[in-house]
Amino acid sequence: MARILHRSIGQPLPHAASAQGVYITDTEGRRYLDGSGGAAVTSVGHGHPEVLAAMRAQIDNLCYAHTGFFTTDAAEELAEQLVKLAPDGLDYVYLVSGGSEAVEAALKMARQYFVETGRPERRHIIARRQSYHGNTLGALATGGNAMRRQQFQPLLPQTHHVSPCYAYRDKGSDESPEAYAARLADELEAKILELGPESVMAFVAEPVVGATLGAVASEADYFKRVRKICDQHGVLLILDEVMCGMGRTGTMFACEQDGITPDILTVAKGLGGGYQPIGAVLLSSAIFDSFANGSGLFQHGHTYLGHPVAAAAANKVVEIIARPETLANVNAMGARLQSGLEAALGASPYVGDIRGRGLFRGIELVADREQKTPFDPARKIHAKIKRQAMARGLISYPMGGTIDGVYGDHVLLAPPYTIQADEIDFLIERITQAIDAAIAE
Ligand code: PMP
Repeated sequence: MARILHRSIGQPLPHAASAQGVYITDTEGRRYLDGSGGAAVTSVGHGHPEVLAAMRAQIDNLCYAHTGFFTTDAAEELAEQLVKLAPDGLDYVYLVSGGSEAVEAALKMARQYFVETGRPERRHIIARRQSYHGNTLGALATGGNAMRRQQFQPLLPQTHHVSPCYAYRDKGSDESPEAYAARLADELEAKILELGPESVMAFVAEPVVGATLGAVASEADYFKRVRKICDQHGVLLILDEVMCGMGRTGTMFACEQDGITPDILTVAKGLGGGYQPIGAVLLSSAIFDSFANGSGLFQHGHTYLGHPVAAAAANKVVEIIARPETLANVNAMGARLQSGLEAALGASPYVGDIRGRGLFRGIELVADREQKTPFDPARKIHAKIKRQAMARGLISYPMGGTIDGVYGDHVLLAPPYTIQADEIDFLIERITQAIDAAIAE
């Protein structure tokens, strides 16, 4: 039976049979609240009738036409909608099949931009030690997630890492958020100067970090400072919103809350909402023009890019997210989740931090709250929480990771945007029980 190479070998998994709204049901009839949207994927809920209808209509007409020969209404309409919703300055869209592909394409766009404009010496990528940008080699080399990188070293060269904006662990107790943001921005500038500004291609960052730390947003004016430094040194700013974009944090794009526009922005997960594998790269006119006026092509491509059924699904998902009531619910339920978690877990000796934006929330667990001492990694607290939560009918996204040599157990919560108050309360109750049970094990 078990012919699939699963990510964790030898761990039996329940078989998902059906899903509706915020619930997934397995073949044994057990129902789970999808408290993390899988990995922050499920945005408009499971089985949304409008998305299913849009997919059916597309399937009945056309499932595939290679983008070397044709474009499609579905792909064109999706691009049009994304550009309309995106911050000013992101004018074109490249459609791919997921997050890693989006980041990989973004890196190659940045590189080709400098080659087309006669600056081939710009080749270095700077990113942050805490970030995860995907599993393909370029994206993996760019990310700083030590655990995901370690088996594959040496990765691709010419990537460099600076400190994350991670106030819980790194901001001095007498340091203001502004001073902290300035310190980190200075570190980025020092790295650019060390490498030689004329050799740096791009700085890559997640506005709200997801898969390494569980919903860590930046402090004060960190990203405004980063934007300024990138501009001063001619470095492209790539924001990876694969996890935090598409309404997840309460605005369509997370960077809106940081008050900046990147040169390139990647989205995936919530864009397809789990209905189809799809990702997108949004790019500035300057980058597009460098290709159009240069070689006349973007030297990249995947067989399934711009897939019409994926585009039709995403087009409807984005339309639903863009309705005012959807983001209003993300913000209202996000606030309820934060305050409910604080009430339930805020006094726990094992909870160091509860954080995030919108329906993108993280909990950091510690063995000693005063000292912020992490649990012994060998205890695998995060894996126990995942199992304990599933046994209580809740899907959550716990993770363990090492940042700057410090191990941490984190839980990411990212339910569908359609979640209601009673379901938020159930989520809080069950994750609290799961954390207590995991620590007691
Ligand atoms: N970037 C970020 C910020 C992510 O969180 C992820 C996935 N967790 C990726 C890229 C890679 O996306 P995918 O798994 O769809 O390839």
